[in-house]
Amino acid sequence: MNAKIVVLAGDGIGPEVTDEARKILNVVAQKFGHTFTFDDQLMGGRAIDERGTSLPDETVAACKSADAVLLGAVGGPKWDKPDAEDRPERGLLGIRKALNLFANLRPVKLNQHLISASTIKEEVLAGVDMLVIRELTGGAYFGPRKEAGADGDEAFDTMLYTTPEIERVVRLAADAAMGRKKKLTSVDKANVLASSRLWRRVTVKVLADYPELEVEHVLVDAMAMHLIRRPAAYDVIVAENLFGDILTDEASMLAGSMGMLPSASLGDVMNQHNLPLGLYEPIHGSAPDIAGQGIANPLATILSVALLLRHSLGLEKEAAAIEAAVDSVLNEGVRTRDIASTGVEVVGTQIMGDLVAEKLLN
Ligand code: NAD
Repeated sequence: MNAKIVVLAGDGIGPEVTDEARKILNVVAQKFGHTFTFDDQLMGGRAIDERGTSLPDETVAACKSADAVLLGAVGGPKWDKPDAEDRPERGLLGIRKALNLFANLRPVKLNQHLISASTIKEEVLAGVDMLVIRELTGGAYFGPRKEAGADGDEAFDTMLYTTPEIERVVRLAADAAMGRKKKLTSVDKANVLASSRLWRRVTVKVLADYPELEVEHVLVDAMAMHLIRRPAAYDVIVAENLFGDILTDEASMLAGSMGMLPSASLGDVMNQHNLPLGLYEPIHGSAPDIAGQGIANPLATILSVALLLRHSLGLEKEAAAIEAAVDSVLNEGVRTRDIASTGVEVVGTQIMGDLVAEKLLN
């Protein structure tokens, strides 16, 4: 297969972790006989410095004509000025919008070897393997709002949803659940919010097309509790933007470290392989506190590349091979500093990438 992958390395540890992910893609290409072409583009803080905007036009154009986009992370204290006209994060929102990425997928699978890195008890975590899907383009983050001025005492945000916005993300979640354990949990606050009542109505209607699915509707406050109390009971969870934002962060803490979790953002723009042109990134930020030291954990970005192969290129065997290689390295007791415990071998970013590459080749 031939595929064009745009790399938005971004800021802080972004370039360090995307370099390792690229290393892994090159090994996949070599081992499985594919040709991946990389196109490096600017986004975020570096783009502000070099081009005067967090999202240059040529970056958008390159992403639109790619098969998939790999992102490191953007942002850092250098660009954190409250009165700044442009911010690195604006680039991220802009590219999500340009590619119409309406669903963010976060698989949360606990690695047996890292169980001690979580703050939750081992017996509660046993068997955790879920996929949390957050709606990404609607709700309170994008609805009409009023900002209280300096002397104002009123402000509001509007959790606005339309039927098609709900339909498409619920359908995506239902399709994902069909490929897993056929269990879907839809989260809302239908006992209070009008937008949640619409969410529930539309969800029920869409899911009528999926009679094989075991479906559960859970109120968001109860969901926050269940995620900590019995996380292993869930398979696919779908939620609107704000609820999903909070729940995905909560779910990611089950796995212990930010350095381990990948994510995929998908929409309805298709690539040349007739698969979703997705954006893939680790869930962590640019970690300015450790940038340039060669100690960042590249595994979340490497696992993001596995999602890229699976969702945007349809290369399931290759995706699974990367996941198995990561597992195998961890199994041998090798760790980066953020997931280290006593009795393990601590390595830096590049060595971790090399070890995963080696496992993949063998
Ligand atoms: P962060 O995720 O960058 O860092 C939080 C903590 O986790 C830090 O101590 C960091 O060293 C550690 N950490 C994160 N990733 C790691 C890795 N791969 N290996 C080892 N340790 C890791 O979150 P933050 O400090 O709140 O944000 C820093 C910057 O990143 C901010 O400018 C923020 O806006 C930005 N950010 C960007 C994204 C994105 O690009 N999608 C997401 C979140 C935060």
